[in-house]
Amino acid sequence: MSLGDRIQKVNERVEAACLRSGRARKEVNIIAVTKYVSGRAMSSVLDSGLLHVGENRWQQAEEKWKQLGDRGIWHFIGNLQTNKVKDIIGKFQYIHSLDRLSLAKELEKKAADMNLTVKTFLQINISGEESKHGLQPGQAAAFLKDISGLKHVQVVGLMTMAPHVDDPELTRPVFRGLRELRDELNGQALTPEPLKELSMGMSNDFEVAVEEGATWLRLGSILVGKEEDEVWA
Ligand SMILES: *Cc1c(COP(=O)(O)O)cnc(C)c1O
Repeated sequence: MSLGDRIQKVNERVEAACLRSGRARKEVNIIAVTKYVSGRAMSSVLDSGLLHVGENRWQQAEEKWKQLGDRGIWHFIGNLQTNKVKDIIGKFQYIHSLDRLSLAKELEKKAADMNLTVKTFLQINISGEESKHGLQPGQAAAFLKDISGLKHVQVVGLMTMAPHVDDPELTRPVFRGLRELRDELNGQALTPEPLKELSMGMSNDFEVAVEEGATWLRLGSILVGKEEDEVWA
């Protein structure tokens, strides 16, 4: 399937999920996760009108950034080592994986140096799987208080990853849990602006995520595919 066809298919499914759940399509943004493909393929993704691109490792993203950094809006979606902040700051407008104070402080320092504000999502481990990164839901409120003095780090919302399961319906409690946590945190008014965004939903479970309130979908294989797929042949 061509890239255009893939985008159209995904859009139809997002629209249907919005209809089922009474949501406006424009509330749902799509990040094309390009971590599996080269700069050449990423360039086609950007040509196709997709504006938001996601990468999870600087090592893999660096070459692509050199070619295409002036195009699109870049999202860092992977686990972020503190010593890599200096490489990605100012390049990635959104960081989806803020999960510890030391990282927040380093982001603050480097963002302040560059006189910019970095938009972040708190990564929350809703599913409780040990293999997953992220704050425990019960730690989120205290964490927001701890970082409230950091003027160059803006938290726009929450991010989570659901367990990989065959039946996407089984991910629903995870996505619902993230939405409920966001609403609960907003009830405590811990941030200057209410947290609006929910980064959740990947190729195998994005429709359920939309139904549960996702505002940012992170779509790799279903949308962009892998380098060896027919779409890039
Ligand atoms: C790779 C990745 C994705 C995209 O995964 P697909 O299943 O290919 O859509 C989304 N989020 C994160 C954090 C990832 O690492």
